[in-house]
Amino acid sequence: KGDVVPDIIQLLPDNIANQIAAGEVIQRPASAVKELLENAVDAGATEIKLFVTDAGKNLIQVVDNGKGMSETDARMCFERHATSKISSIEDLFKIKTMGFRGEALASIAAVAQVELKTRKAEDELGSCLEVENSIVKKQEACSASAGTNICMKNLFFNVPARRNFLKSNAAEMRHIVDEFIRVAMAFPHIFFSLTSNGQQVFHLEAGSLKQRISQILGTSYTSKLVSVSEDTDYMNVYGFVGKPETAKKTRGDQYFFVNNRFIKSAYLNHAVMSAFDEMIAKDSFPMYVLFIDLDPSQLDINVHPTKQEIKFEDEKIVYAFVQAAVKHALAQFSIAPSLDFSL
Ligand code: ADP
Ligand code: MG
Repeated sequence: KGDVVPDIIQLLPDNIANQIAAGEVIQRPASAVKELLENAVDAGATEIKLFVTDAGKNLIQVVDNGKGMSETDARMCFERHATSKISSIEDLFKIKTMGFRGEALASIAAVAQVELKTRKAEDELGSCLEVENSIVKKQEACSASAGTNICMKNLFFNVPARRNFLKSNAAEMRHIVDEFIRVAMAFPHIFFSLTSNGQQVFHLEAGSLKQRISQILGTSYTSKLVSVSEDTDYMNVYGFVGKPETAKKTRGDQYFFVNNRFIKSAYLNHAVMSAFDEMIAKDSFPMYVLFIDLDPSQLDINVHPTKQEIKFEDEKIVYAFVQAAVKHALAQFSIAPSLDFSL
């Protein structure tokens, strides 16, 4: 008696497991904004509208005209590891969509109150759902516009420690605008708008990349963009860099997208900076919006839940190619003939 030690390990209930997992995916309102915008892009929307109140702390709403969801999918999308985007591990290496982990909506539903309205164009009625603490509280057929309208209210209402850690509205709003801009920049053929506390902040008509850059970064660059475009079998680099004279004292207008995904890479940034070399003053930062497309099998995007870090199969090739592409585009601006050209 007394020497029998009972087993003590138990599986966590789903809603608690989801809440813990959500910590990695949804760190602040801007993380939810990124996930919801990417879902709208993946759904093939041509119009995506984002509404926030109080910097997303009280409301984040994304309305898209994409493919919508069926009655069953509208419920399934809140399950963890539920996705329509991959079905095998091989699919990971040919991924064309922004999402694939099937975690975003499950995470959001674990830490906010969610209302979803969705309809497929071919269906007469749509589905309306209310979800809280990972539980679908209500689902009914309803009339709805084709596409998806998702509202997420009171982020972290059930995780007070997290809610208290949120920064000021101004700071959280800056993060939201950053995420919004990154997605909008990557998909210039999609209309995007952002409305904050009832006031329209961005209204971006669909157009070319050049137009999108002017819409977002201002028209001061419009006549000062140098086109970058190099193709090989291995990879393509395209986009724009600002003429050397537009380099600024502050970093900021610098964007890298790999297969349309915004990434942060000090290494690739260095490739661009070195291509500008003597053309710009030390301590100044050229503007660039560059897209690198390569076979998804040459990438690992599953390094981090937020997917802003990636691993290249061969980082050095990518560096050399980006550097050469930018150098080539800038050749007309180099003051003294460099060794490359005298040879
Ligand atoms: P993932 O994007 O990684 O698949 P999510 O949790 O973000 O995971 O979404 C789960 C699924 O819900 C998606 O795979 C998709 O099928 C569906 N879905 C989510 N958002 C939308 C949307 N805006 N329009 C249509 N389907 C959507
Ligand atoms: Mg997603």
